[in-house]
Amino acid sequence: MGRILSGEEIAAQIKAELRTRVADLARKGIVPGLAIVRVGEDPSSASYVRQKERAAQGLGLLSTTTVLPTRTSEDELLAVVSSLNEDPRFHGVLVQLPLPPDLSPERVCGTVAPAKDVDCLHPENIGRLVRGDPYLLPCTPHAVQQILHRSGYPPAGKHVVIVGRSALVGRPLSILLSQKGPAGDATVTLCHSATPDLGAFTHQADILVVAVGRPRLVTADMVRAGAVVIDVGVNRVDDPTAPKGYRLVGDTEYEAVGKVAAAITPVPGGVGPVTVAMLLGNTVAACEAQAQPAR
Ligand code: NAP
Repeated sequence: MGRILSGEEIAAQIKAELRTRVADLARKGIVPGLAIVRVGEDPSSASYVRQKERAAQGLGLLSTTTVLPTRTSEDELLAVVSSLNEDPRFHGVLVQLPLPPDLSPERVCGTVAPAKDVDCLHPENIGRLVRGDPYLLPCTPHAVQQILHRSGYPPAGKHVVIVGRSALVGRPLSILLSQKGPAGDATVTLCHSATPDLGAFTHQADILVVAVGRPRLVTADMVRAGAVVIDVGVNRVDDPTAPKGYRLVGDTEYEAVGKVAAAITPVPGGVGPVTVAMLLGNTVAACEAQAQPAR
């Protein structure tokens, strides 16, 4: 088995670094605040939000979650976002995705105040990311970048193949890793559902990132010996032996791919905890930025 890259350990390092910054803010009487809005009763979303809230509180941040019913109208949701934008206790505002089908994630995320946009989904912040002048970095792509750097696999000069081109993960990750400079400098190939012969591409990867949401999509024969594999996918699969009747798996055939790869992230315990740590980092950074006197 290749090296297992523990997201729990990396998240603990990042949180330890953040504690110093939270303490500095506390000395000035400032507590970073994160407001989360969740709509509907999707059990995975509820569980992600609980993890984010718990992690924020564990770091000493102010955190609150507004839960709205599935049948909330877009105007009602926008009114909630607008009041959180105006609330000085909250430096970060996050709308948990996915939203129920009648609500447009683009329109809703586009109304979060850019200064409080800790998920980096506002068009202004996406534009800054693309331009190479980011305000905050999107949490999951930033988590992938941090896992690579902190585990000793910097992407510079490597061929990174990303499977999945969503606005949340694959597309911003392709921008982050191909940006000029030591944090990027990778050559990136972005694959998606219309990519013919996916294995021919994944097999060329020095670093393979899979963010699709399909269990066992990537099998061992699709991975080059010695590649680094980052599995972003989170899928529930039935397992009558598990206490909840299901277990979480990624997008790769973990055991078999792990034998071919030099290193692999587990699911759970890989990208997920680091994503939460990056969200805390963005909340602290947004707070620091908002605490600065306007120039
Ligand atoms: P998404 O919006 O559904 O996007 C999935 C992407 O995969 C799309 O670009 C789609 O291509 C592509 N795809 C679908 N089937 C494919 C196939 N057979 N071959 C190649 N590409 C294929 O999903 P997402 O929001 O990016 O999330 C992806 C996974 O990551 C999910 O399991 C999600 O739960 C997980 N996730 C984890 C974290 C974390 O912190 N661990 C954070 C976010 C997401 P098209 O564009 O052509 O449709």
